[in-house]
Amino acid sequence: MMEKEIEKYIKAGKITANVLEFARTLILSGINDVCELCEEIESKIFKLGGMPAFPCNICINEIAAHFSPYPSDRIKLPKEGIVKIDVGVRIDGFITDAAISIPLSKNYKKIVKCSKKALENAIKCVKPGIKTGKLGEIIEKTAKDENFKPIKNLSGHLIREYNLHAGKSIPNIRTLFSQKIEEGEIYAIEPFLTFPNAMGSVTSINKARIFSLAKLKKPRNREGEEIYREIYRRFRTLPFSPRWLLDLGPLESVLEKIRVLIKEKIVHAYPVLVEESGGYVAQFEHTVLVTKRGGVILTKKAS
Ligand code: MN
Ligand code: MN
Repeated sequence: MMEKEIEKYIKAGKITANVLEFARTLILSGINDVCELCEEIESKIFKLGGMPAFPCNICINEIAAHFSPYPSDRIKLPKEGIVKIDVGVRIDGFITDAAISIPLSKNYKKIVKCSKKALENAIKCVKPGIKTGKLGEIIEKTAKDENFKPIKNLSGHLIREYNLHAGKSIPNIRTLFSQKIEEGEIYAIEPFLTFPNAMGSVTSINKARIFSLAKLKKPRNREGEEIYREIYRRFRTLPFSPRWLLDLGPLESVLEKIRVLIKEKIVHAYPVLVEESGGYVAQFEHTVLVTKRGGVILTKKAS
């Protein structure tokens, strides 16, 4: 990778770390309106000189991933459970992706700590040549040693320019299928843990809050033309929230046009993912650059 590209990743990573720290302070200060939190977090990304690479995800309890609220959802943080904040920042097309979990009550401190440890243990073993399945094994072992269960159908991912999920994945369990990690690659590693009596897998529900362009093709239906153009101009093929298109009209009319594009398979909807048996989920995530000397965490706060 070119020096200039690495610099952009480093910058994006620093912003990501700062924004997550900011998110933690907001939550600890008592702000509990989830949409307000999302918007504050996203505007902090801009203030620090980055762009969101995807909508800020705030997932509560059994909701594991892909939730970013609309103002009309009117969701508040509960008094019990776990909240996960997952943030992506990009400088041009260079993306970093990281997440933290915050226990909302004391029963969830241990699982939160353990997911952080699973992430740290996996990162310690990152080096060129290591197999993705080995990292999954380390995550699984860290979870099971403390009697937690990793979510088997969620995984970390290779990141490339303008591409958040660039092919290879890092599982959260030991897998037979495994791929080699190579020097110069960038991975998001993200253990998701739940409780031992839960299924340990996620399923999609019939609700989506995050979308992306799946196909670069002018819609047949004229209704969809303007919004298609704007989505491409603003987000390319990266995930977006309809909240980011409210200058084009009220939410309902924006969603109506997005539905037209979904029908034509031009836009992809990401369904919200929940733990299949309702188990509460904790997650930590870092973006890591693979170097000769090992994994360098891009999304760590400078100390
Ligand atoms: Mn993430
Ligand atoms: Mn990720």
